[in-house]
Amino acid sequence: MLKETRSTCPYCGVGCGVVIESRGDQITGVRGDPDHPANFGRLCSKGSTLHLTAAPEITRQQRLLQPLRRAQRGDAPVAIGWDEALDDAATRFAGFIEAHGPDAVGFYISGQLLTEDYYVFNKLAKGQIGSNNIDTNSRLCMSSAVSGYKLTLGADAPPACYEDIDHAGCLFIAGSNTAWAHPVLYRRIEDAKRRRPDLKIVVVDPRRTDTASSADLFLQIQPGTDVALFHGMLHLMLWEGWTDSAYIAAHTTGFDELKARVRDWTPDRTAQVCGIPKEALAEAARLFAGGGAAPQDRHPTLSLYCQGLNQSSSGTAKNAALINLHLATGQIGKPGAGPFSLTGQPNAMGGREVGGMANLLSAHRDLANPAHRAEVAALWGLPSVPDKPGKTAVEMFQAAADGEIKALWIACTNPAQSLPDQATVRRALQRAEFVVVQEAFATTATCDFADLLLPATTWGEKEGTVTNSERRISRVRAAVPAPGLARHDWQIVMDFAHRLQARGIGPRHDLFPYDGPQAIWNEHRASTRGRDLDITGLSYDILETAPQHWPCPADASQGGAGETAAQARAPGQSTGSLGRARLYEDGRFPTPDGRARFAAVDHQPVAEPRSARFPLALTTGRLRDQWHGMSRTGTLGRLFGHAPEAVVQMNSGDMARRGLQEGELVHLSSPRGAIVLPAQASEDVASGQAYLPMHWGSEFLSGHDSTGQPSAGVNALTTSAFDPTSKQPELKHAAVKVVKAELP
Ligand code: SF4
Repeated sequence: MLKETRSTCPYCGVGCGVVIESRGDQITGVRGDPDHPANFGRLCSKGSTLHLTAAPEITRQQRLLQPLRRAQRGDAPVAIGWDEALDDAATRFAGFIEAHGPDAVGFYISGQLLTEDYYVFNKLAKGQIGSNNIDTNSRLCMSSAVSGYKLTLGADAPPACYEDIDHAGCLFIAGSNTAWAHPVLYRRIEDAKRRRPDLKIVVVDPRRTDTASSADLFLQIQPGTDVALFHGMLHLMLWEGWTDSAYIAAHTTGFDELKARVRDWTPDRTAQVCGIPKEALAEAARLFAGGGAAPQDRHPTLSLYCQGLNQSSSGTAKNAALINLHLATGQIGKPGAGPFSLTGQPNAMGGREVGGMANLLSAHRDLANPAHRAEVAALWGLPSVPDKPGKTAVEMFQAAADGEIKALWIACTNPAQSLPDQATVRRALQRAEFVVVQEAFATTATCDFADLLLPATTWGEKEGTVTNSERRISRVRAAVPAPGLARHDWQIVMDFAHRLQARGIGPRHDLFPYDGPQAIWNEHRASTRGRDLDITGLSYDILETAPQHWPCPADASQGGAGETAAQARAPGQSTGSLGRARLYEDGRFPTPDGRARFAAVDHQPVAEPRSARFPLALTTGRLRDQWHGMSRTGTLGRLFGHAPEAVVQMNSGDMARRGLQEGELVHLSSPRGAIVLPAQASEDVASGQAYLPMHWGSEFLSGHDSTGQPSAGVNALTTSAFDPTSKQPELKHAAVKVVKAELP
């Protein structure tokens, strides 16, 4: 019997709906869900091949199907039962906590986890164990967007929605190769451009990406000069009278300070720092500000941005400087306008909602806020939750490398490939006395460092929810049973927590009394009451009928805050949401005085400038058909058709100056490590720069790190320098050197 199950794609933050076809315990097909408002039936090359990644031979060969334990590092792992595995884990963790305190352990989780999984992990660390040492690979993806929103708008909430693409007069795309990283959303942009040829698309990127190639205006800036560009644009807007003084006066604070800050960003200086023509700068400012028309005739501008702004040692400033432009021109809170950060992962947003990061608490509460800590303690029936800031991603692995963190629990992510400065990460994994890896795939580099491997279910096998880039919550549903002995992530956490409790760690009462993901979600929902992301008007039953935006407070589901019923019913056209699709339409912001705040941020150079020794600026990015470290997409030969191998792209002039031929092997090195791979000439890459796709790890690339260990792939080169506020590392830039490889 063919069964059809509606679910959500597990790859990117677009959050496309899928219909999974299955027979018995086998997934046999997948197609786009025509009713899902993120994609209306469309899927990209990754989403449309999802079912092939669940083929029986891939499950047999590449999945973790039973708990495994290594007697010693380097040994082959041996199969054990779940009771033995979890007892062992609980005994070891309890031992470290008793001997060294709760901060001797750390949890590193993932934006691939479902909201329910995230919630229980967060409760385990902060509630049961009493440590804020829990962070996520979402730190590498969107934490600068979080801090940028909070700094300026007062809350971590992207104010726009996908439908705004259809209303915008200008799309300002900065640091995002949307065509490859968010393909189905890009199809929507292409559709809008086809329907309305006067829609202007401006792209800002150091590299001529596919997205840049179809832009009306492309600003190929020098890496790391985004704040300079945005300040220069504001300088011009002020000069030309393109700002919205009425909006600024009514809804914002801090404009005078920002005005003083951008005074020196003259067109000459901006053009020189950014490496762009003055005319292009002026045109970008004009288009952003609504086309230079009279205030009532200005078109709305929607900016879309992603890792190019976020993965930076000044990521918060870059986000804030772009949001400044929206506030200064009144391009926010109306159809087709607003600063819209795109999330990379399928549930980076859900992780933010439940506070699954070292500096956050449930429902967008801040760890640093005593009232927020008290609220969460009350929700969980605890006297308090810890106030000591937890270690963020880079800090956590540095602490493990220093011997401060003794035990690491890693779930659904592959830090031995994806974190920057792999020499330090691998030192951390080797030095940690106990490493647990909770994973679906047995093939990740991190599995090699595990003392204990716990098999987890994955897409097509588990139930819960995710939230996409536009704050829309979708159901994830199981089409087939768990393979082998794999268990759901929330179950593993809950069973471990009960064993910790039996060993005297945590409160006497049961913090994990759940019979399924819905019970967890209901507790999360209750924690949002009165918060900016209030979802007390939603339920699993409502989500069964259609994906829903937050906020959706209790009165909204009776027609209070969302769309009209007529709008919600219009298939393929409306957002179909009971919640609020667009924020700040009334000009009020969740700040103490209700006003948005201009941020007078400074332009800062990249953390590691080019030098005589390392004269090229390396940037990294996604390929169209691959996902993260390729543990899933790498199982399919057909997804290598677009880019069969890792190559470093360089400008042909830079290659000629080094005597390099097309396809020749080169030795690419940074102060931290080296890799050897073919070079490819590309005029998309500016002179003085090099570009590498982010997906390849040590299994595909040869070379060594600074300690002489075999290379850990692309991130052998990258720097762990991070933004001081968001703690997001600068994965987008490192100084490198390229020489012809000497072959034995
Ligand atoms: Fe999946 Fe993203 Fe592709 Fe949609 S655009 S099918 S969510 S990878």
